[in-house]
Amino acid sequence: MSKKQFKAESKQLLDLMINSIYSHREIFLREIISNASDAIDKLHYKSITESDVPVSREDFRIDVKVDKEAGTVTVSDNGIGMTKEEMDANLGVIAHSGSLDFKKNLEEGKDVDIIGQFGVGFYSSFLVSDKVTVISKAYGQDQAWKWTSEGADGYTIKECERDSYGTDVIMHIREDDENESFSQYLSEYTLEELIKKYSDYVRWPIHMYLEKGDMEETGETNEDGTPKKEWRTHIEDTVVNSMVPIWQRDKSSVTDEDCKKFYKEKFHDYEEPISVIRVNAEGSVSYKAMLFIPKVAPYNFYSREFEPGLQLYSSGVMIMDKCKDLLPDCFRFVKGIVDSPDLSLNISREMLQHDRQLAMIRSNLEKKIKNDLDRILTEDRETYNEFHKNFGPQLKYGIVEGWGAKADLLKDLIMFHSMEKDAPITLKEYTESMKEGQDKIFYASSESIARAKQLPKAEQVRDKGYDIICLTEELDEFTLRTLRNYNGKEFCDINSKDLDLGTEEEKKEAEAKEEESKDLLGFVKDTLGDRIDSVKLSRNLKTHAVCLSTEGDVSFEMEKYFANLPGSPEQNVKAKRVLEINPNHAAFKALEDAYANDKPKAEAMCKIMLDQALLMAGMPVEDMLGYSENVFKLF
Ligand code: ADP
Ligand code: MG
Repeated sequence: MSKKQFKAESKQLLDLMINSIYSHREIFLREIISNASDAIDKLHYKSITESDVPVSREDFRIDVKVDKEAGTVTVSDNGIGMTKEEMDANLGVIAHSGSLDFKKNLEEGKDVDIIGQFGVGFYSSFLVSDKVTVISKAYGQDQAWKWTSEGADGYTIKECERDSYGTDVIMHIREDDENESFSQYLSEYTLEELIKKYSDYVRWPIHMYLEKGDMEETGETNEDGTPKKEWRTHIEDTVVNSMVPIWQRDKSSVTDEDCKKFYKEKFHDYEEPISVIRVNAEGSVSYKAMLFIPKVAPYNFYSREFEPGLQLYSSGVMIMDKCKDLLPDCFRFVKGIVDSPDLSLNISREMLQHDRQLAMIRSNLEKKIKNDLDRILTEDRETYNEFHKNFGPQLKYGIVEGWGAKADLLKDLIMFHSMEKDAPITLKEYTESMKEGQDKIFYASSESIARAKQLPKAEQVRDKGYDIICLTEELDEFTLRTLRNYNGKEFCDINSKDLDLGTEEEKKEAEAKEEESKDLLGFVKDTLGDRIDSVKLSRNLKTHAVCLSTEGDVSFEMEKYFANLPGSPEQNVKAKRVLEINPNHAAFKALEDAYANDKPKAEAMCKIMLDQALLMAGMPVEDMLGYSENVFKLF
């Protein structure tokens, strides 16, 4: 039979695996054992949900064997096995789009430790082997198949013999070279340690034939009549892992460290989670849960590809890998396991959606997660800030999408950058440090914090001693709009027309000035025409001469957002533009002067003022040439 080629991507990936030096080669065993365990899970599940599958739970096992002479390590299981087609599809081609991302990570020098995250765990066998053979017989089939590959140049699949269903993965361990010892993986002791380290909680027994020694009776007697003993060794079939799922064990017998270690292995994260939440609920629905809040977002978290969900078990049997209905969407970053003896094994995804017990578990978990995040926020701010950097957008999205009850749940967990503290703060913190007389929460929308600080009106708000939160993400402004207010305190865009900062007296004074300048303002509006909706004298500017603000519901950031929605009827939604002029600025005096003495010059000034205001608001000047000509008219 001719050799089949790996798909191009797979080939490059294998090359990378084989030819580079990694610190974590040892994870190959974890990955291969985890596949064996998955295969047994599948057959076990089949045996309890279908009537004609006579296999018994007690017989399931994984074997790890070493053949020092042949230089091989073999991992065998009596799980579901693979047909020829399955071998071709699962081992020959990396169908998962994850392989590409994994390759990218490798090339960027990230550790191979995260391989399982990308659904290419099987390939880790090539970290230590120069040849891998897989012999497999699918459950219910007569023919076994043998898949062989020596790495990047392809693989073959041939007929072969195997007594019963299941799979052997035979890894031909590489020769030692000057840099690395591969022969260590041919030592039972090393393998045993690796199993304890990485695969201790695998639910199926992992067997090894280990040499055991003991003082044994020889059959002869000593001079004093006692039986003679001597040290003898024998080979014993030993179960190496402890098997009891960690979430089933008593809280007191499992440390947080154990749980975190378990998390890293089970969910293939290279970072420890920031928190472990354990639940042992009894009552109208009983379940145990072990949840983890990750520190970093998986590479595909904010893409459609990311599949959220918790693993669902019923009395130790996994019935679903990613059960979405257990997790509210706003907390979709949470990983973990729920195990309930009350759930039926045969439950389908469709039925789960309507399951009352599941709904109860979900609402319970939602509270637990929220409380835990509250706790981290108060107890360990640095960790929370880091968490928020990664998952804050998800929480905000939760508010926008869920509003009502979800907004209440999440409003104290979100943060925004404070101009005063130059650090992220919560809305609660903002309102608690509001100044006397301040009744609004001021915010500045802009593409960056630096830009927000430069907005013309920020100056006077800050002068009053009021803090401003910076909204730099598209989602931020929608979040505040959804919330409407925070505990009764309104949100106020510093870009909007009237900030109402001054005293009554100042207000009156400004109105008088405005009345006085009525003609001039009319002239400005006439000169600028449709380019603005209105013009006014500003009470909110200090050193800046002009600024552009909005009137009504639509802000500039909203306008930009809508403009980027192709085909949407809202695409042409425009903010109402107000040109504000600082009456105390020399530019205004000059305009007054020109208006009285030199109309063409006054017109040029109006146009320049608008263009300057646009620039300060971070918006393009449409007519560059016109702008430039106007500037020169001033000379
Ligand atoms: P993942 O485990 O994330 O699916 P892997 O690269 O580890 O990715 O494995 C690829 C696929 O190969 C598995 O999904 C499974 O279908 C198949 N496979 C690997 N090992 C075994 C095994 N021991 N028994 C049955 N199928 C296996
Ligand atoms: Mg795997």
